[in-house]
Amino acid sequence: MRSTTSELNWSGTVTYTAERVLRPASLAEAAEIVAREPRVHGLGTRHSFNDSADAPGVLLDLTAVPTDLVVDPERRTATMGAGTRYGVVAPEIDRAGFALHNEGSLPHISLGGAIATGTHGSGTALGSLSTAVRSFELLGPDGSVRTIDRDDAGFDGAVLHLGLLGVVTRVTLDVEPTFRMRQDTYGPIPWDTFTAHVAEVHAAAYSVCSYTVFGDTVSEVLLKSRVPDDADDTAVPDDLLGAPRLPGTPGDGHHTARDGSVGPWWDRLPHFPIESVPSVGSEVQSEHFVPLRHAAAALEAVRGMADRIQPHLHVCELRTMAADRFWLSPSQGEDVLCIAFTWKKHPAEVAALLPDLEARLAPFDGRPHWGKMSSLGGDAIAELYPRLRDFRDLVRSADPERTFASAFGERVLGA
Ligand SMILES: Cc1cc2nc3c(=O)[nH]c(=O)nc-3n(C[C@H](O)[C@H](O)[C@H](O)COP(=O)(O)OP(=O)(O)OC[C@H]3O[C@@H](n4cnc5c(N)ncnc54)[C@H](O)[C@@H]3O)c2cc1C
Repeated sequence: MRSTTSELNWSGTVTYTAERVLRPASLAEAAEIVAREPRVHGLGTRHSFNDSADAPGVLLDLTAVPTDLVVDPERRTATMGAGTRYGVVAPEIDRAGFALHNEGSLPHISLGGAIATGTHGSGTALGSLSTAVRSFELLGPDGSVRTIDRDDAGFDGAVLHLGLLGVVTRVTLDVEPTFRMRQDTYGPIPWDTFTAHVAEVHAAAYSVCSYTVFGDTVSEVLLKSRVPDDADDTAVPDDLLGAPRLPGTPGDGHHTARDGSVGPWWDRLPHFPIESVPSVGSEVQSEHFVPLRHAAAALEAVRGMADRIQPHLHVCELRTMAADRFWLSPSQGEDVLCIAFTWKKHPAEVAALLPDLEARLAPFDGRPHWGKMSSLGGDAIAELYPRLRDFRDLVRSADPERTFASAFGERVLGA
């Protein structure tokens, strides 16, 4: 077990205020810490761009606990430690003959952190990574383990929890028979053509991501296509709304292959391979989710401040995500367009821009990503989340002594 102070998040823009970070080597050790310490909070791989993982007292990092993967072919599930990184366990799941339905762009993040924040990949028919959860094990304030199953009352409120209900130790995810994929890039598409067909473009493959800096075009569209089980490859369009298919790039250790070559799902769903160190130290991110039916209007609203955005922007990535029922999900109730900004590492300038950006997205009920920068909190969040009051009740009943409370939870969620 290791003890440290004043540690940083991945982007180096948040200094944790916790007294200590503890990294137990076993679940028994983790349970002892939770039972013993008055204030504890779950910590993943620190990739969030806000203070959602910070709290007074002890931050509990489960990345040293063995993954201990158990695949159940009958139930079509895979169970593993919550501190596990997607990129580590995904090839193991594949070797067992199965696949996850989706991954985020970065395979370096932990399952526990991704699920707690509603992290997502892209796909209009695909829910967030949290929607794959069949059940999870949670250490309560006394260090005892409780299993929360998809069929249990309260599951929809508990699965996205920002660490406020306890420390998640193991998760059981839905899996499906393994599949192969290819990635192809197209572009550029004139802005007006793209905004007139956003939903259509994003339905053009299993998973689609589009990129723009809010100029005259969407510079590139990335189609991630599934190869049918009984085939060696799959046909892809020669053009997308008139934009040609580009040669793309082979897998180079920095990005997964985008040249139309066929590979396993875990090497095509994420944008980066696990051995890469993507733009470390040079970015911060914010992201908002708007109902897909408002996609064009919301994008125009953002483009209205392009001259202020562009000096700080690396690129904006557009994705889609299917509706779910989770109380704190940004896609609760409706399919959404995800508008993700990868900013240059200008956190003060980005923080200054966000209130205007968020005001422009307010008419479309723009919900912020729980793990990224946002100026929204309190009443604004309560208006966006009809079940927030129920979540606060859930927190009060699961954690009456506020062992797992965080400043983020209090400020943003009132929980
Ligand atoms: C380069 C980069 C690319 C990204 N790409 C995407 C993307 O494609 N899609 C997307 O949606 N997001 C993306 N993100 C955001 C990222 O997925 C989320 O911030 C995610 O929560 C990070 O997981 P983590 O393991 O680092 O969690 P942390 O940031 O460490 O923690 C996040 C939250 O989870 C809680 N938590 C973590 N582990 C536990 C546990 N075991 N028990 C209880 N609570 C726990 C923490 O308390 C905190 O509230 C990206 C971030 C980076 C840096």
